[in-house]
Amino acid sequence: MKKPAYSMSSNFAWSLGYLLKYSKTALFLSALFVPVRIGLRYLEIYLPSLVVEEVTGGQTFRHALLDTGVVMLLLLLGQVILLALGHVKDASLGLYRYQTGSLVTRKELSLFYQTYERKEVRDLANRASRATEMWNGVQPLTDMVLHGFGFLENLLGYLLFGAVISFASPWLVLLLTAAPLVNLACVKAYNRWEYAQRDKMTDLDQKLEYVAALPDDFQTAKDIRIYSMASWLRECYQDLSGQRMKWNRSAARKGFFVRGAEFLVILVRDGGAYALLIHMFYQGQISVSEFVLYFAAISSFASWVDGILSCLSQAHAVSLKLCDLREFVDYPQEDGSGAAKAKDHMGAAPRIEFRNVSFRYDGAGQDTIHNLSFQMESGEKLALVGPNGAGKTTLVKLLCGLYRPTSGEIFLNGVPLSDFKREDYYKLIAPVFQEVRTAFFTLAETVSGKSTADTDLERARDCMIQAGLGAKLESLPNGIHTKLNKKIHEDGTELSGGEAQKLMLARALYKDAPLLVLDEPTAALDPIAESRIYTEFNAMAKGKTALFVSHRLASTAFCDRILLLDHGEIVEEGTHQELLKANGKYKELFDMQSCWYQEDAQGGDGV
Ligand code: ADP
Repeated sequence: MKKPAYSMSSNFAWSLGYLLKYSKTALFLSALFVPVRIGLRYLEIYLPSLVVEEVTGGQTFRHALLDTGVVMLLLLLGQVILLALGHVKDASLGLYRYQTGSLVTRKELSLFYQTYERKEVRDLANRASRATEMWNGVQPLTDMVLHGFGFLENLLGYLLFGAVISFASPWLVLLLTAAPLVNLACVKAYNRWEYAQRDKMTDLDQKLEYVAALPDDFQTAKDIRIYSMASWLRECYQDLSGQRMKWNRSAARKGFFVRGAEFLVILVRDGGAYALLIHMFYQGQISVSEFVLYFAAISSFASWVDGILSCLSQAHAVSLKLCDLREFVDYPQEDGSGAAKAKDHMGAAPRIEFRNVSFRYDGAGQDTIHNLSFQMESGEKLALVGPNGAGKTTLVKLLCGLYRPTSGEIFLNGVPLSDFKREDYYKLIAPVFQEVRTAFFTLAETVSGKSTADTDLERARDCMIQAGLGAKLESLPNGIHTKLNKKIHEDGTELSGGEAQKLMLARALYKDAPLLVLDEPTAALDPIAESRIYTEFNAMAKGKTALFVSHRLASTAFCDRILLLDHGEIVEEGTHQELLKANGKYKELFDMQSCWYQEDAQGGDGV
């Protein structure tokens, strides 16, 4: 079985560090609770024997009442204090919970994209965020240190009460201690089994969540209806949930045996102890008040031992959850050396060079990009064309620094990309990707990637107009402040595919980075909007180096140079006219695409 990545003591120290940083009050109060609770528990067992002693020891009624009253008052006071401080402690834990929870998101956002795409990393992320989930208002991770204090409290109680009981018989201490160890062994075996299953369960839960979330997505909801996929999806869901239920049943069965063993042990432990005490009383070895004290001490003592074991087993379970969280949070970051600085390249359009670049996706059998070499001169508008699956988007992601070449190197103004810190390099590049997903912010915020207060509204508006959204802006009552996403905002709006693509173009223009990369930016646009982009492309890309990716060959005629990519290799290169003249693959593809328009035109009722 795989060993947990971190020991319990290491996880304890980790939690302690975070508590110290974010919830000092909770830490202080948890420590304070230890002596107070032990004191109260002692008063609880002392009270009945005090009453018996006062009543049988010939004390006056007033004296007996006063003594008992004082102890009861102390008990009451202690409970009230614990209750009040408990609320303060829980409130103070909030920040710690929030911080540990947000660690996962922070890590997800900071991971190198290529690493983040890996299934192994996605699984780690999934398990880590499960570890930080709240159940009934409690986040188990909070409890690591608290269980530590619980353990300390129970241990001190065990020693104190053990000392009291050992006055009656040391055998009692031995019996009350040894029996629950059996419980611990059972619980540990169960926890280990559960831990060993987690890889399988994470995988299953992810699939279940994925299938369950499909109907919630407007895009897939359409497909599901029109392609009658509902019953197939239901079958998928039932099959997966069947597997999950099978595991749940198996877990419940094992849990039942653990509880059963626990019950048996309690029976043997308490029964044996009480029998021994009664025997001693009948032998005249202890008085009535001592009998009462020991009797109460025994039942209390058992709970100290149980407390020690349960704190240990709960700390063990929490520790495993913390392992899940830390394995992801500590996942090694991959970054450039950081010697190069983006600000040194901001001023002018950069020169780009791909030198013998190959790229293979993790787990793939062969390279997607094969030994690719080409240059983009400063200020050049380069078009990258090619059939589906040729590797165009992969190349864009390489250029954007989202993937690292498997071999070879990419240079910006002669500096290898690996010399930049990734975050810094991203400042140099403004891409528009094919797949468009807008969040629930306002139009202005989406364009700037910042809050409204930090957005240059005029510039955002100009960029939206330049991207072809002027008419749309005018049609919206809230204009640039219109919120996206109808699911989240009652007064929100949904954009069409083409509008969303234009918005992404506006975002790229707003960023005003020296390297502009447009990956199929017109795929979702109507012909008018498309031709507008072509005519305005030079204005948009003024003073920048630009890469324009498209599978539509006719769309690239306005670029300085065209690269034809096929199966991850550059098969032809030149201007539109040169490539047509060359009468090669480009010409073949171009003729294939344009023949439909020509036939239309020849038909006389052209578009
Ligand atoms: P294009 O943009 O030219 O249509 P892509 O760069 O998207 O082509 O894809 C090139 C090849 O790489 C395709 O065969 C595709 O299946 C594969 N591919 C794309 N993305 C991934 C990925 N994340 N993991 C594995 N293979 C991928």
